[in-house]
Amino acid sequence: MFDSLSSKFSSAFSALRSRGRIKSGDIDEIVAEIRTALIDSDVALEVADSFSASIKEKSLEALEQVNKSTNPSQGIFEIVNKELVAILGGQTRRIRMAKKAPTVIMLVGLQGAGKTSLAGKLALYLKNQGNTPVLVASDLQRPNAVTQLQQVGQSVGIPVFAPEPGNGVGDPVKVAQAGRKFAEDKLHNFVIIDTAGRLGVDDELMNQASKIRDAVNPDEILFVVDAMQGQDAVRTAKSFAQGVGFDGVVLTKLDGDARGGAALSIVSLLERPIMFSATGEKVSDFDLFHPDRMASRILGMGDVATLAEQAKAAIDPDISKKFEEKFARGDDFTLIDFLSQLQAMKKMGSMSKMLGMLPGMNSGAMKKQLENFDDSELVRTEAIIQSMTPAERLDVKILNGTRRARIAKGSGRQVSEVNNLVDRFTAAQKMMRQMRKGGGIPGMPGMGKMGGMGQIPGMPSLPAGNKQLPPKKKSKSGNPAKRAAEQG
Ligand code: GDP
Repeated sequence: MFDSLSSKFSSAFSALRSRGRIKSGDIDEIVAEIRTALIDSDVALEVADSFSASIKEKSLEALEQVNKSTNPSQGIFEIVNKELVAILGGQTRRIRMAKKAPTVIMLVGLQGAGKTSLAGKLALYLKNQGNTPVLVASDLQRPNAVTQLQQVGQSVGIPVFAPEPGNGVGDPVKVAQAGRKFAEDKLHNFVIIDTAGRLGVDDELMNQASKIRDAVNPDEILFVVDAMQGQDAVRTAKSFAQGVGFDGVVLTKLDGDARGGAALSIVSLLERPIMFSATGEKVSDFDLFHPDRMASRILGMGDVATLAEQAKAAIDPDISKKFEEKFARGDDFTLIDFLSQLQAMKKMGSMSKMLGMLPGMNSGAMKKQLENFDDSELVRTEAIIQSMTPAERLDVKILNGTRRARIAKGSGRQVSEVNNLVDRFTAAQKMMRQMRKGGGIPGMPGMGKMGGMGQIPGMPSLPAGNKQLPPKKKSKSGNPAKRAAEQG
């Protein structure tokens, strides 16, 4: 997500940090680097120019003051951060609810932008907030768009109003109108209308979208745009702004190798906020767009606020309360606790995306490690624990060679993987005991040290290449069968 922009900003700042006292020449240098970074990331030239001019002006104004502080580069960093938040839209913009339900949201954009997927993501997001959305299939053009919307709706338990088969059959304006009426009759408080796109902008597309707009009078028209589109995204956005008009932008495919700058230019050039972003194909890969959090990511400071929100949503409060009570009582940390943590983590989505929200994780070597992170390890670990008996989960010490071989067979894994899990779990258990004694969290100070990852309860180890992982212990067993099993 804005990766190249982020890494260029980071290197520009690390050069500035090494300077100590900052001179006006240093400002010229960093402003030039920022401008190049923006242009390389597809930010429109005029936006890159006005952004860098504004940073230059504000930095020079603040220079004397900044140099009085113990950390002058921080002052400049804060100016850039503030400007970046502004270019990203300033405030977080939420959906405006209609005074009288239903609130009608119309999605527009080119074919392939991700509208249909987004309709499902948005509907789920609204449903999770206690709303009762209905999806309306008004894309009657793209092959299979109607069935795709029905499948998406079914997968998230949201009704889909689809009276026409699509694939060129049916009147999208009538469907949209009837969809709105359906929502009113059935008391759905949100209507999300999926409309047809084309491969490129054309008059027919604009006419149809305008007719749907006039027929349903939407409260929000969202322009869905593929963040990977480059400068074309700006041209498309301008056409949609003139042809149909829109209230906000949804950026999709931010998970890809998106340089993303063109999408950023839309905010400045068309003065429309980015309201949501999609970062993957799964329905959960979607969130409100917070300009301040995105600026923070671009500047390498991570996005701890989103991470905390996701953790809160994924962790069952009853389970975490029970765990805290257990911990306070002095009970030992068991594989049963370990399993429930794993399940909560799985609910939070992709581990590499999650870890990428931590400060400093999305640059250089850390980023490479995150890219290699294998999310399916959580699933494998879960399978191994589920193949254990309750007694084994309560006390791993009873796991002799025969039991380990049985567990490996039951979970379809190698004995070495069972051994590895037991080792990691034992380390986690030791860590919990130490924490209780007030000994701190080994290997986890601020989570900055990735080598400690394997020791965080429930956290699988990082892939090869992590030199900080503790060396694997040699077998100490005197029992030849167990030794053989341990060696897998
Ligand atoms: P539509 O023509 O605008 O309705 O586009 P679709 O919703 O069918 O999306 C086009 C393709 O992009 C599909 O293969 C989607 O799975 C994929 N897609 C949509 N959003 C995202 C996203 O945020 N990230 C990634 N990687 N793929 C996406």
